Amino acid sequence: MTSSDRTPQTEVAPTLFFREILGQERALGYLKTALRQGRLAHAYLFLGPEGVGRAATAAALAARLNCAQPTSGDEACGRCPSCKRLAAGTHPDFLVIRPTSKERPPKIVIDQIREFRKLTAYPPVGGGWRVAVFKPAADIKAEAANALLKTLEEPPPQHVIILAAGQESDLFPTLVSRCQKLAFAPLPASLIQGELEKRGRPPAQAALVAALSGGSLGKALDLDLEHLLAQRDQVLADLKGLAEQGDTGVLDWAQRLAKSRPETDAFLLLAELWYRDLLLLQAGAWPELLAHQDRLAELTAALPASPPGLCFARLAALAQAQRQLAANLNPELTLNMLGFRLAGK
Ligand SMILES: [Zn+2]
Repeated sequence: MTSSDRTPQTEVAPTLFFREILGQERALGYLKTALRQGRLAHAYLFLGPEGVGRAATAAALAARLNCAQPTSGDEACGRCPSCKRLAAGTHPDFLVIRPTSKERPPKIVIDQIREFRKLTAYPPVGGGWRVAVFKPAADIKAEAANALLKTLEEPPPQHVIILAAGQESDLFPTLVSRCQKLAFAPLPASLIQGELEKRGRPPAQAALVAALSGGSLGKALDLDLEHLLAQRDQVLADLKGLAEQGDTGVLDWAQRLAKSRPETDAFLLLAELWYRDLLLLQAGAWPELLAHQDRLAELTAALPASPPGLCFARLAALAQAQRQLAANLNPELTLNMLGFRLAGK
Protein backbone atom coordinates (compact mmCIF):
# COMPACT_ATOMS: atom_id res chain seq x y z
CA MET A 1 0.00 0.00 0.00
CA THR A 2 1.53 3.29 -1.01
CA SER A 3 0.65 6.32 1.07
CA SER A 4 -0.22 8.26 -2.08
CA ASP A 5 -3.07 5.85 -2.73
CA ARG A 6 -4.79 7.20 0.38
CA THR A 7 -4.39 10.84 -0.54
CA PRO A 8 -7.89 12.27 -0.90
CA GLN A 9 -8.33 13.08 -4.55
CA THR A 10 -10.56 15.74 -5.93
CA GLU A 11 -13.68 13.90 -7.10
CA VAL A 12 -14.42 15.00 -10.61
CA ALA A 13 -17.16 14.01 -13.03
CA PRO A 14 -16.38 10.64 -14.63
CA THR A 15 -14.47 10.76 -17.89
CA LEU A 16 -16.52 9.42 -20.79
CA PHE A 17 -13.85 9.24 -23.43
CA PHE A 18 -10.62 7.31 -23.85
CA ARG A 19 -9.25 10.27 -25.83
CA GLU A 20 -9.31 12.44 -22.68
CA ILE A 21 -6.99 10.09 -20.79
CA LEU A 22 -3.43 11.30 -21.04
CA GLY A 23 -0.25 9.35 -21.57
CA GLN A 24 -1.65 5.80 -21.28
CA GLU A 25 -1.61 4.79 -24.94
CA ARG A 26 -0.41 1.28 -24.16
CA ALA A 27 -3.10 0.36 -21.63
CA LEU A 28 -5.82 2.04 -23.71
CA GLY A 29 -4.68 0.37 -26.93
CA TYR A 30 -4.88 -2.98 -25.20
CA LEU A 31 -8.40 -2.34 -23.90
CA LYS A 32 -9.68 -1.00 -27.21
CA THR A 33 -8.37 -4.05 -29.05
CA ALA A 34 -10.08 -6.32 -26.54
CA LEU A 35 -13.32 -4.32 -26.97
CA ARG A 36 -13.18 -4.53 -30.75
CA GLN A 37 -12.49 -8.24 -30.70
CA GLY A 38 -15.17 -8.91 -28.06
CA ARG A 39 -12.71 -10.54 -25.68
CA LEU A 40 -12.70 -8.34 -22.63
CA ALA A 41 -11.52 -10.08 -19.46
CA HIS A 42 -13.94 -10.52 -16.56
CA ALA A 43 -11.51 -8.85 -14.20
CA TYR A 44 -8.66 -6.41 -14.59
CA LEU A 45 -5.93 -5.25 -12.29
CA PHE A 46 -5.13 -1.61 -13.09
CA LEU A 47 -1.66 -1.07 -11.68
CA GLY A 48 -0.03 2.34 -11.30
CA PRO A 49 0.34 5.39 -9.11
CA GLU A 50 -2.61 7.44 -7.91
CA GLY A 51 -3.76 10.12 -10.33
CA VAL A 52 -2.55 8.69 -13.66
CA GLY A 53 -5.95 7.73 -15.09
CA ARG A 54 -6.90 4.31 -13.71
CA ALA A 55 -10.39 5.36 -12.51
CA ALA A 56 -10.92 7.53 -15.59
CA THR A 57 -10.13 4.55 -17.83
CA ALA A 58 -12.63 2.41 -15.93
CA ALA A 59 -15.30 5.10 -16.42
CA ALA A 60 -14.50 5.46 -20.13
CA LEU A 61 -14.72 1.69 -20.50
CA ALA A 62 -18.13 1.68 -18.78
CA ALA A 63 -19.26 4.54 -21.02
CA ARG A 64 -18.15 2.78 -24.19
CA LEU A 65 -19.65 -0.58 -23.17
CA ASN A 66 -23.04 0.93 -22.34
CA CYS A 67 -23.21 3.58 -25.05
CA ALA A 68 -26.17 3.31 -27.45
CA GLN A 69 -24.18 4.78 -30.37
CA PRO A 70 -20.44 4.31 -29.94
CA THR A 71 -18.26 5.99 -32.55
CA SER A 72 -16.17 4.05 -35.04
CA GLY A 73 -13.12 5.13 -33.02
CA ASP A 74 -14.19 3.04 -30.03
CA GLU A 75 -15.45 6.02 -28.08
CA ALA A 76 -18.77 6.58 -26.32
CA CYS A 77 -21.07 9.10 -28.04
CA GLY A 78 -21.47 11.38 -25.04
CA ARG A 79 -25.12 12.10 -25.91
CA CYS A 80 -27.21 8.97 -25.37
CA PRO A 81 -29.11 8.39 -22.07
CA SER A 82 -26.41 6.01 -20.79
CA CYS A 83 -23.61 8.51 -21.53
CA LYS A 84 -25.59 11.31 -19.87
CA ARG A 85 -26.15 9.28 -16.73
CA LEU A 86 -22.49 8.36 -16.56
CA ALA A 87 -21.47 12.00 -16.94
CA ALA A 88 -23.90 12.92 -14.14
CA GLY A 89 -22.42 10.21 -11.92
CA THR A 90 -25.79 8.45 -11.63
CA HIS A 91 -25.33 5.41 -13.89
CA PRO A 92 -26.71 2.37 -12.05
CA ASP A 93 -24.23 0.01 -13.75
CA PHE A 94 -21.01 1.89 -12.98
CA LEU A 95 -19.94 1.31 -9.40
CA VAL A 96 -16.91 2.67 -7.59
CA ILE A 97 -16.37 0.78 -4.35
CA ARG A 98 -14.13 2.66 -1.91
CA PRO A 99 -13.05 2.09 1.69
CA THR A 100 -15.88 3.17 3.99
CA SER A 101 -15.28 1.42 7.32
CA LYS A 102 -14.73 3.48 10.47
CA GLU A 103 -11.19 2.11 10.90
CA ARG A 104 -8.23 4.42 10.43
CA PRO A 105 -7.37 4.21 7.63
CA PRO A 106 -10.75 2.94 6.37
CA LYS A 107 -11.03 -0.40 4.58
CA ILE A 108 -13.27 -2.12 2.05
CA VAL A 109 -15.16 -4.60 4.22
CA ILE A 110 -17.11 -7.79 3.70
CA ASP A 111 -20.53 -6.10 3.89
CA GLN A 112 -19.63 -4.03 0.84
CA ILE A 113 -18.65 -7.18 -1.05
CA ARG A 114 -21.87 -8.94 0.06
CA GLU A 115 -23.93 -6.03 -1.28
CA PHE A 116 -21.99 -6.16 -4.52
CA ARG A 117 -22.40 -9.93 -4.82
CA LYS A 118 -26.16 -9.57 -4.37
CA LEU A 119 -26.22 -7.14 -7.28
CA THR A 120 -24.23 -9.43 -9.54
CA ALA A 121 -26.97 -12.05 -9.26
CA TYR A 122 -29.03 -9.74 -11.50
CA PRO A 123 -28.16 -8.54 -14.97
CA PRO A 124 -27.07 -4.91 -15.37
CA VAL A 125 -30.01 -2.53 -14.93
CA GLY A 126 -29.57 -0.86 -18.31
CA GLY A 127 -29.23 -4.14 -20.15
CA GLY A 128 -25.58 -3.44 -21.02
CA TRP A 129 -22.55 -4.03 -18.85
CA ARG A 130 -21.95 -3.53 -15.15
CA VAL A 131 -18.47 -2.15 -14.43
CA ALA A 132 -17.29 -2.17 -10.81
CA VAL A 133 -14.07 -0.51 -9.65
CA PHE A 134 -12.49 -1.33 -6.29
CA LYS A 135 -10.21 1.54 -5.32
CA PRO A 136 -7.75 1.26 -3.70
CA ALA A 137 -7.94 -2.51 -3.96
CA ALA A 138 -5.10 -2.72 -1.42
CA ASP A 139 -7.65 -1.66 1.19
CA ILE A 140 -9.84 -4.75 0.71
CA LYS A 141 -9.75 -6.68 4.00
CA ALA A 142 -8.87 -10.39 4.00
CA GLU A 143 -12.43 -11.56 4.66
CA ALA A 144 -13.78 -9.27 1.97
CA ALA A 145 -11.10 -10.41 -0.48
CA ASN A 146 -12.19 -14.01 0.06
CA ALA A 147 -15.80 -13.10 -0.68
CA LEU A 148 -14.77 -11.17 -3.80
CA LEU A 149 -12.68 -14.13 -4.91
CA LYS A 150 -15.91 -16.18 -5.22
CA THR A 151 -17.21 -13.64 -7.76
CA LEU A 152 -13.91 -13.71 -9.65
CA GLU A 153 -13.94 -17.50 -9.76
CA GLU A 154 -17.46 -17.63 -11.17
CA PRO A 155 -17.63 -14.39 -13.13
CA PRO A 156 -21.19 -13.21 -13.75
CA PRO A 157 -21.99 -12.46 -17.42
CA GLN A 158 -21.89 -8.83 -18.66
CA HIS A 159 -19.69 -7.74 -15.77
CA VAL A 160 -16.20 -6.23 -15.70
CA ILE A 161 -14.49 -6.00 -12.32
CA ILE A 162 -11.53 -3.65 -11.97
CA LEU A 163 -9.11 -3.61 -9.07
CA ALA A 164 -7.04 -0.42 -8.94
CA ALA A 165 -3.79 -0.73 -7.03
CA GLY A 166 -0.31 0.76 -6.82
CA GLN A 167 1.47 -2.54 -7.27
CA GLU A 168 0.72 -6.24 -7.33
CA SER A 169 2.35 -6.83 -3.96
CA ASP A 170 -0.32 -4.62 -2.33
CA LEU A 171 -2.94 -7.30 -3.01
CA PHE A 172 -3.75 -10.83 -1.95
CA PRO A 173 -2.09 -13.14 -4.50
CA THR A 174 -5.37 -15.06 -4.91
CA LEU A 175 -7.01 -11.89 -6.25
CA VAL A 176 -4.05 -11.07 -8.50
CA SER A 177 -4.09 -14.49 -10.12
CA ARG A 178 -7.72 -14.03 -11.21
CA CYS A 179 -7.17 -10.70 -12.95
CA GLN A 180 -5.65 -9.58 -16.20
CA LYS A 181 -2.94 -7.04 -15.43
CA LEU A 182 -2.74 -3.64 -17.09
CA ALA A 183 0.08 -1.25 -16.20
CA PHE A 184 -0.53 2.50 -16.04
CA ALA A 185 2.68 4.51 -16.29
CA PRO A 186 3.57 7.68 -14.37
CA LEU A 187 3.06 10.66 -16.70
CA PRO A 188 6.04 12.64 -18.03
CA ALA A 189 6.53 15.96 -16.21
CA SER A 190 6.27 17.86 -19.51
CA LEU A 191 2.80 16.43 -20.13
CA ILE A 192 1.62 17.35 -16.61
CA GLN A 193 3.09 20.82 -17.00
CA GLY A 194 1.17 21.27 -20.26
CA GLU A 195 -2.09 20.21 -18.61
CA LEU A 196 -1.55 22.61 -15.72
CA GLU A 197 -0.88 25.44 -18.14
CA LYS A 198 -4.09 24.58 -20.02
CA ARG A 199 -5.87 25.00 -16.70
CA GLY A 200 -4.43 28.49 -16.34
CA ARG A 201 -1.38 27.97 -14.15
CA PRO A 202 1.57 30.24 -14.98
CA PRO A 203 4.26 28.18 -16.81
CA ALA A 204 6.99 28.66 -14.20
CA GLN A 205 4.78 27.44 -11.38
CA ALA A 206 3.36 24.64 -13.50
CA ALA A 207 6.96 23.44 -14.02
CA LEU A 208 7.61 23.29 -10.28
CA VAL A 209 4.34 21.49 -9.51
CA ALA A 210 4.92 19.03 -12.38
CA ALA A 211 8.44 18.28 -11.13
CA LEU A 212 7.02 17.49 -7.68
CA SER A 213 4.02 15.46 -8.86
CA GLY A 214 5.80 12.13 -9.23
CA GLY A 215 4.11 11.63 -12.60
CA SER A 216 0.59 11.95 -11.20
CA LEU A 217 -1.73 14.54 -12.71
CA GLY A 218 -4.13 13.95 -9.81
CA LYS A 219 -1.41 14.83 -7.31
CA ALA A 220 -0.36 17.84 -9.38
CA LEU A 221 -3.93 19.16 -9.35
CA ASP A 222 -4.27 18.54 -5.61
CA LEU A 223 -1.02 20.30 -4.62
CA ASP A 224 -1.65 23.53 -2.74
CA LEU A 225 0.41 25.97 -4.78
CA GLU A 226 0.49 28.74 -2.19
CA HIS A 227 1.72 26.38 0.51
CA LEU A 228 4.24 24.88 -1.89
CA LEU A 229 5.68 28.29 -2.79
CA ALA A 230 5.97 29.20 0.90
CA GLN A 231 7.71 25.87 1.55
CA ARG A 232 10.08 26.52 -1.33
CA ASP A 233 10.96 30.01 0.02
CA GLN A 234 11.80 28.38 3.34
CA VAL A 235 13.88 25.64 1.70
CA LEU A 236 15.92 28.11 -0.33
CA ALA A 237 16.46 30.28 2.75
CA ASP A 238 17.54 27.16 4.67
CA LEU A 239 20.00 26.08 1.99
CA LYS A 240 21.55 29.55 2.02
CA GLY A 241 21.51 29.71 5.81
CA LEU A 242 23.16 26.30 6.27
CA ALA A 243 26.24 27.42 4.35
CA GLU A 244 26.56 30.56 6.47
CA GLN A 245 25.76 29.26 9.92
CA GLY A 246 27.96 27.61 12.51
CA ASP A 247 27.39 24.19 14.03
CA THR A 248 24.57 25.33 16.32
CA GLY A 249 22.73 26.76 13.32
CA VAL A 250 22.80 23.34 11.64
CA LEU A 251 21.61 21.59 14.81
CA ASP A 252 18.76 24.10 15.27
CA TRP A 253 17.69 23.63 11.65
CA ALA A 254 17.66 19.83 12.01
CA GLN A 255 15.69 20.03 15.24
CA ARG A 256 13.07 22.33 13.70
CA LEU A 257 12.66 20.34 10.48
CA ALA A 258 12.61 16.93 12.18
CA LYS A 259 9.35 17.83 13.92
CA SER A 260 7.37 17.44 10.70
CA ARG A 261 7.79 14.57 8.28
CA PRO A 262 5.85 16.29 5.46
CA GLU A 263 8.09 19.38 5.80
CA THR A 264 11.17 17.13 5.84
CA ASP A 265 10.01 15.32 2.71
CA ALA A 266 9.28 18.64 1.01
CA PHE A 267 12.74 19.93 1.94
CA LEU A 268 14.45 16.85 0.50
CA LEU A 269 12.52 17.02 -2.77
CA LEU A 270 12.77 20.78 -3.30
CA ALA A 271 16.48 20.83 -2.42
CA GLU A 272 17.09 17.91 -4.78
CA LEU A 273 15.40 19.84 -7.60
CA TRP A 274 17.53 22.88 -6.73
CA TYR A 275 20.81 21.02 -7.25
CA ARG A 276 19.40 19.25 -10.29
CA ASP A 277 18.54 22.67 -11.76
CA LEU A 278 22.08 23.92 -11.04
CA LEU A 279 23.52 20.91 -12.90
CA LEU A 280 21.17 21.50 -15.82
CA LEU A 281 22.26 25.13 -15.99
CA GLN A 282 25.94 24.09 -15.86
CA ALA A 283 25.21 21.87 -18.85
CA GLY A 284 23.66 24.79 -20.74
CA ALA A 285 20.00 23.65 -20.54
CA TRP A 286 17.16 25.99 -21.48
CA PRO A 287 15.54 27.66 -18.45
CA GLU A 288 12.22 26.08 -19.52
CA LEU A 289 13.60 22.72 -18.35
CA LEU A 290 14.20 23.91 -14.79
CA ALA A 291 11.88 23.06 -11.91
CA HIS A 292 12.68 26.33 -10.13
CA GLN A 293 12.61 28.40 -13.33
CA ASP A 294 10.80 31.23 -11.57
CA ARG A 295 13.93 31.61 -9.39
CA LEU A 296 16.31 31.75 -12.32
CA ALA A 297 18.10 34.86 -11.01
CA GLU A 298 19.02 33.10 -7.76
CA LEU A 299 20.05 29.92 -9.58
CA THR A 300 22.29 31.94 -11.88
CA ALA A 301 23.78 33.80 -8.95
CA ALA A 302 24.52 30.49 -7.21
CA LEU A 303 26.23 28.97 -10.27
CA PRO A 304 29.83 30.20 -9.76
CA ALA A 305 29.96 28.70 -6.26
CA SER A 306 28.24 25.42 -7.30
CA PRO A 307 30.54 23.36 -9.54
CA PRO A 308 29.14 20.01 -10.72
CA GLY A 309 31.19 18.07 -8.13
CA LEU A 310 29.56 20.01 -5.31
CA CYS A 311 26.05 19.55 -6.76
CA PHE A 312 26.57 15.79 -7.12
CA ALA A 313 27.85 15.57 -3.54
CA ARG A 314 24.78 17.44 -2.26
CA LEU A 315 22.44 15.25 -4.33
CA ALA A 316 24.12 12.16 -2.88
CA ALA A 317 23.67 13.53 0.64
CA LEU A 318 19.97 14.22 0.01
CA ALA A 319 19.44 10.75 -1.47
CA GLN A 320 21.16 9.17 1.50
CA ALA A 321 18.90 11.08 3.91
CA GLN A 322 15.86 9.88 1.97
CA ARG A 323 17.03 6.28 2.27
CA GLN A 324 17.75 6.65 5.98
CA LEU A 325 14.32 8.12 6.68
CA ALA A 326 12.66 5.39 4.62
CA ALA A 327 14.53 2.88 6.81
CA ASN A 328 13.10 4.66 9.90
CA LEU A 329 16.37 6.07 11.16
CA ASN A 330 16.05 8.86 13.72
CA PRO A 331 14.94 11.95 11.73
CA GLU A 332 16.88 14.49 13.81
CA LEU A 333 20.12 12.51 13.58
CA THR A 334 19.60 12.01 9.85
CA LEU A 335 18.99 15.72 9.36
CA ASN A 336 21.99 16.63 11.52
CA MET A 337 24.24 14.61 9.24
CA LEU A 338 22.55 16.02 6.15
CA GLY A 339 22.82 19.57 7.48
CA PHE A 340 26.59 19.28 7.98
CA ARG A 341 27.04 17.82 4.51
CA LEU A 342 24.92 20.58 2.91
CA ALA A 343 26.87 23.16 4.92
CA GLY A 344 30.06 21.74 3.42
CA LYS A 345 31.51 20.79 6.79
ZN1 LIG B 1 -23.50 7.18 -25.68
